[in-house]
Amino acid sequence: MIDLLIKNAKTIDGKRIEIAVQSGKIHEVGATMTYDAADVSEELDLGGDSYISAGWIDGHVHCFEKMDLYYDYPDKVGIDSGVTTVIDAGTTGAENVGEFHDLAKAAKTNVFALLNISKWGIVEQDELADLSKIQRDLIEEALAKYGDFIIGFKARMSKTVIGDNGIIPLEMAKDIQAQHFKELPLMVHIGSAPPVLEETLSLLTAGDIVTHCFNGKDNGILDRSRGQIKAFAWEHYRRGLVFDIGHGTASFDFDVTETAFSEGMKAHMISTDIYSRNRLDGPVFNFPTTLAKLHVVGYSWSEIIEKVTLVPAEVFKLEGKGQLVAGYDADVTIFDRVESTQTLVDSQGNERQANEWLQPVKAIVGGKQYDINL
Ligand SMILES: [Zn+2]
Repeated sequence: MIDLLIKNAKTIDGKRIEIAVQSGKIHEVGATMTYDAADVSEELDLGGDSYISAGWIDGHVHCFEKMDLYYDYPDKVGIDSGVTTVIDAGTTGAENVGEFHDLAKAAKTNVFALLNISKWGIVEQDELADLSKIQRDLIEEALAKYGDFIIGFKARMSKTVIGDNGIIPLEMAKDIQAQHFKELPLMVHIGSAPPVLEETLSLLTAGDIVTHCFNGKDNGILDRSRGQIKAFAWEHYRRGLVFDIGHGTASFDFDVTETAFSEGMKAHMISTDIYSRNRLDGPVFNFPTTLAKLHVVGYSWSEIIEKVTLVPAEVFKLEGKGQLVAGYDADVTIFDRVESTQTLVDSQGNERQANEWLQPVKAIVGGKQYDINL
């Protein structure tokens, strides 16, 4: 018995696609599919108008509601904007990830966590100023208990976070990762110096994630006096570090993104760094707004979709996610391409005009349908 048959949809490249869903998994995918009506519980006919992709994945959000600094609710940053999977980037550490895990289970959106190497996560802005908060035994315990939920580590390496510790917290993070958990990627937040960016990037290994990659700070990848991307940034990009947008309140700059684009450097992954304040007051607002910003810079819609489905699923090793293939989870985003003019603002206050964006209309998580009114 087919639980749900999605008819007359198209991919972002305009190819016709139909999907049969059974027991929360994708049962079959094809251009057209015929089932006996008696074998189908529900049919969803998109009439050839709407697009579908694998469920969107936002690789950097903050959605543990119990925090004071950066908090939100998984479904507010997830399903409500067409995102079927969110990855909380280090809001919690070993001491409070359990509470987050229990709360997140109730969400409609799939939730995973990157474990902050500091034991309480971002309880205060300078969580890495006190090195005694980085405790390997606590991290090991948390991983043993919540191994399905924790899919990587997070270290915020910028001036306001590290106190007088320079690069030491990152060395400790790499050490923990290397000795015990090689398969788990480390996401590093970059920002103002210290530490200087070149030193931070030098410590990372291929597969690690550099979030806020196109921030507009002096310690970023753009050499403003020469109007070009710093040579060392190119080197680390080429050797396999994953560049992630992580838009956030202060970390996405059109000028940097455009200069990088003109030199052939694109972010691998597109994420929002969304939480209640930058969702309600901007400049993030929601996931599709961040996607529209990359489209204005020149990214094609098909590469944008790849950077929010296939790529994050591979980077975070999310089994059964990121692609529309038989046997994978039935996580699907249904959306329209809408044409109309809208002003987009980056974290620096720079404006660009968008003429087109993706409007999610429905999300399916593990076979369950949710309507979206964004
Ligand atoms: Zn963040």
